[in-house]
Amino acid sequence: TELSTMILDRIRDVPDYPKPGVVFKDITPLLADPVAMAAVVEELAGTHQADKIVGIEARGFILAAPVAYRAGAGFVPVRKKGKLPAATLEESYDLEYGSATIEVHRDAFVPGERVLIVDDVLATGGTAKAAVELVERAGGEVAGIAVLMELAFLQGRERLAGVDVRSLVTV
Ligand code: 5GP
Repeated sequence: TELSTMILDRIRDVPDYPKPGVVFKDITPLLADPVAMAAVVEELAGTHQADKIVGIEARGFILAAPVAYRAGAGFVPVRKKGKLPAATLEESYDLEYGSATIEVHRDAFVPGERVLIVDDVLATGGTAKAAVELVERAGGEVAGIAVLMELAFLQGRERLAGVDVRSLVTV
């Protein structure tokens, strides 16, 4: 579609970042284009009905905040451990080397609120899976996950069985 072309034309492959052998999908050209950005926000906001939009630090914030504004929903940050000031719940997940921990405020959701999780890229799905666990433990109902780009060869979707995952482009 026209939107997928607009997105793909504005995501740049950066070889050997953050380490040799990895090709990083750099979304900054898309963020710099107001027309493409508006179309992306519009599309992401229309994927699921939600009361709250969760953004995953850090690139997820850039998309989730305007999506929340567009949807008339609240914004909730999921952050790396140690960054949120009040009482939190935390969830750890495995990375290729080592592990990572993300957190959400314990009182971020009213019980039963519908929550849309937004991030830029779905790769192995580890981050998104941990975000789903956090939202559920904090009392939210996960309406779905919406990402700009899905790296299908990493099979992240398989780790998210039972969750409605929408991606604007798949590579
Ligand atoms: P996963 O946990 O699915 O393996 O990785 C997804 C997380 O890492 C997302 O929060 C995303 O921002 C980041 N990420 C992993 N690979 C890439 C990439 O190639 N480009 C961008 N922009 N983010 C990535």
